[in-house]
Amino acid sequence: MRVLVTGGAGYIGSHTCVELLTAGHEAIVVDNLSNSSEEAIRRVEAITGKQLPFYQVDIRDYDGLDEVLGKHQPEAVIHFAGLKAVGESVEKSLLYYQNNVQGTLTLCDVLSKHGVCDLVFSSSATVYGDPASVPITEDFPLSATNPYGRSKLIVEEILRDLQVSDSRWNIALLRYFNPVGAHHSGQIGEDPSDIPNNLMPFVSQVAVGKLECLSVFGDDYPTKDGTGVRDYIHVVDLSIGHLRALEKLQQKPGVVTYNLGTGNGYSVLDMVKAFEEQTGRTIKYRIADRRPGDIAMCYADASQAKKELGWEATRDVNDMVRDTWRWQSQNPQGYG
Ligand code: NAD
Ligand code: UDP
Repeated sequence: MRVLVTGGAGYIGSHTCVELLTAGHEAIVVDNLSNSSEEAIRRVEAITGKQLPFYQVDIRDYDGLDEVLGKHQPEAVIHFAGLKAVGESVEKSLLYYQNNVQGTLTLCDVLSKHGVCDLVFSSSATVYGDPASVPITEDFPLSATNPYGRSKLIVEEILRDLQVSDSRWNIALLRYFNPVGAHHSGQIGEDPSDIPNNLMPFVSQVAVGKLECLSVFGDDYPTKDGTGVRDYIHVVDLSIGHLRALEKLQQKPGVVTYNLGTGNGYSVLDMVKAFEEQTGRTIKYRIADRRPGDIAMCYADASQAKKELGWEATRDVNDMVRDTWRWQSQNPQGYG
């Protein structure tokens, strides 16, 4: 299959391009490089030995997208492009709605013109807000606590409406839990442009000596050790989930929604300990205040994806931390 990948130079997009190319698909990337580097594209080509056509195009640019679609005529789209920093979204809400919501509208307009109506969308477990219980199933109530989460929720609703209004569309809404890890080659990985907001990039930058000390945000949550519990999922498992979703769309299911997680919850201190055990490094940490907006526990019931996509995560926490460390230690400056 020929697949357009928006945001394909980014963290999850680049790993998904590796899986697409390795499985014999063709991929074409559009990315405005607002949070990524073209070096990621070159490394995907090096890992796979395949060509990955790349266009520095913004998804809000109708004409730019129109040209790429006219040239390559993809059969399906995986739509990763978006801004994802929760804190920034509170300060720059309009930018987040313009980029994530307006960008998706423009993309869908162009796709519709070209008759490309199979779409996989990067949603997030954040659409469950503060869930009443865990594990979380896809039918839990949805809510948002910040503009980033609301942009995902709004796009999910827009895509559902789009499919109702035009039955050519088949759409998979994939709700990711906490993607971590890197390709086992150590060639591609997560490369935050600033001080990382997320736990694992922060931990690995402490391990490599770029940052001094991890702040553990709260040790008074109602969890086994008081620190927040999340469902960390290896980025390669997550990427493979997108290939299964593309296959599902061939059955013309309309709109389908899947949690992509492992179904296991690990605390902040579990992750620190696993990292120390797997790397032999000591992670200096201190207990800090809770981070506003954080919830105690979030992990998936991923059984629907297993049943309907034949997909489940196979990489464990040790794989996640080992691969994170290989990427970080081989590329202390990221893509440089
Ligand atoms: P990322 O920032 O590494 O990748 C996103 C890519 O999109 C970047 O390369 C960026 O340059 C590009 N981009 C952003 N706005 C664009 C625009 N207007 N036009 C073209 N390109 C644009 O992030 P990621 O972690 O790979 O996330 C991919 C998607 O998955 C995002 O939509 C994100 O919201 C979603 N998601 C991520 C996580 C996570 O923890 N990483 C969790 C849930 C959902
Ligand atoms: N966390 C932390 N210190 C950090 C970053 C994160 O203690 O520097 C905690 C956070 O409170 C949460 C977990 O690690 O319990 C995962 O946070 P992350 O930002 O990676 O993902 P989130 O689940 O918030 O999207």
